[in-house]
Amino acid sequence: MEINLISDTVTRPTPGMLDAMMSAKVGDDVFKNDPSVNALEEKVANFFGMEASLFFPSGSMANQTAIKLHTQPGEQLICDKYAHVFNYEGGGASFNSGVSCKLVDGHRGMMTAEQVAESINPPDFYHSPLTSLVCIENTTNKGGGACWDFEELKNIREVCDQNGLKYHLDGARLWNALVAKGENPKDYGNLFDTISVCFSKGMGCPVGSVLVGSKKMMDKALRIRKILGGGMRQSGFLAAAASYAMDHHLERLQEDHQKAKEIGEVLQNLDFVKKVEPIETNIIIFELNESLVDSDSFLGKLTENGISIIGMGQGKLRIVTHLDYTQEMHGHFLSILPKIF
Ligand SMILES: *Cc1c(COP(=O)(O)O)cnc(C)c1O
Repeated sequence: MEINLISDTVTRPTPGMLDAMMSAKVGDDVFKNDPSVNALEEKVANFFGMEASLFFPSGSMANQTAIKLHTQPGEQLICDKYAHVFNYEGGGASFNSGVSCKLVDGHRGMMTAEQVAESINPPDFYHSPLTSLVCIENTTNKGGGACWDFEELKNIREVCDQNGLKYHLDGARLWNALVAKGENPKDYGNLFDTISVCFSKGMGCPVGSVLVGSKKMMDKALRIRKILGGGMRQSGFLAAAASYAMDHHLERLQEDHQKAKEIGEVLQNLDFVKKVEPIETNIIIFELNESLVDSDSFLGKLTENGISIIGMGQGKLRIVTHLDYTQEMHGHFLSILPKIF
């Protein structure tokens, strides 16, 4: 049995999703006449109670478009030191928008409103870059799938309002946070200038992300997407998968979260595991007691058993549960773990 737990991006479309894709009505989305893309964009905008949205090939492109929308070259954005926009988008903030990132030393990828306020450069001090944007991530990826306290997100909005800053949410896994905390997506729509969401992670789609915001913002985003090479033609096949996922794969994220908790409990009881970070959603980050077992031999043993997980650097290992990780695989994995050494 092959068990791939390196990421929730490894899923294949389900038969139901493939059916939805195969029967999708499509057009040419660059001419804005693909009915399936138009329907998805309306659906996601309504879900968040925002005016408009735009379909993208990747989450990185959606985030990069948001950064471009909200900044001018030479300016600065504020984000946590773990942020995807800083660490994992190939330096796109500087390449595409000519902006620098002020990194905040937060907790599990999350910062406080006070830390954000302290990170703003005084606007009249012309020696330092002008701060214009705050980016946050929910759930946090490098922070181990942690969910924000919504009150703190509101506090940061206040800091943004007081200082004329825009506020972007990298919501690649916002779905997981919404389900884990039973939150209302419209509360998020109310709070942020723009939100990006991924369909190629927990939602199980092959490709696709959406950026949500005001009509005016999305009109501008359309041009930026074109510049970045993200205009797609019969992308309705992909949008149909995303629509299907919203209807069928959202509530079930709870199952991924439950399985992650159960894996965490087993790990916690192994003497060669030093520490398991709190598990809130579908990501498990843990460290080995390297004097007993080093990461390489642990990963090697798992590989021998057909199980893949990933190293995060600094002795941290990561497991991510997802749609294609079945109950049968789960039982097998849990029974193998205590026997592996
Ligand atoms: C995966 C991810 C993205 C987008 O990644 P793509 O591979 O470009 O789709 C953005 N932010 C976070 C936090 C992510 O985990």
